Amino acid sequence: MDKNEVRIEPVESIVDSITVYFANSFSIVQRGQHFLLTIGYDHPDGVSVKYRTFALDADGLERLVDAINSLFPEEKEQEETSEKKASSSSKKVCPNCGWENEPSAKFCVKCGAKLP
Ligand SMILES: [Zn+2]
Repeated sequence: MDKNEVRIEPVESIVDSITVYFANSFSIVQRGQHFLLTIGYDHPDGVSVKYRTFALDADGLERLVDAINSLFPEEKEQEETSEKKASSSSKKVCPNCGWENEPSAKFCVKCGAKLP
């Protein structure tokens, strides 16, 4: 077999393989027109760490990254939630009625109580 010949892996088979779900590290090396993607992942036995290398073309790499990102949507949502919390905590909550007033407000617009 020709050493320079790279067998391109179908993106779907990589994503479907268990490897990606347990992945904890990625590294990408460009080799000519191909990219070698090495995934380090926790073996399902929970003890050992394994590495697998896949050959991809540029288009395949892009699709794989998209697929990996869509596998972990929860993390994105958590970031958005914490941003929302941060912005709502900057509002002045009325100690009397609980109304959320603008940070600059001196008195509650709902009940007129003095704000801290
Ligand atoms: Zn109030």
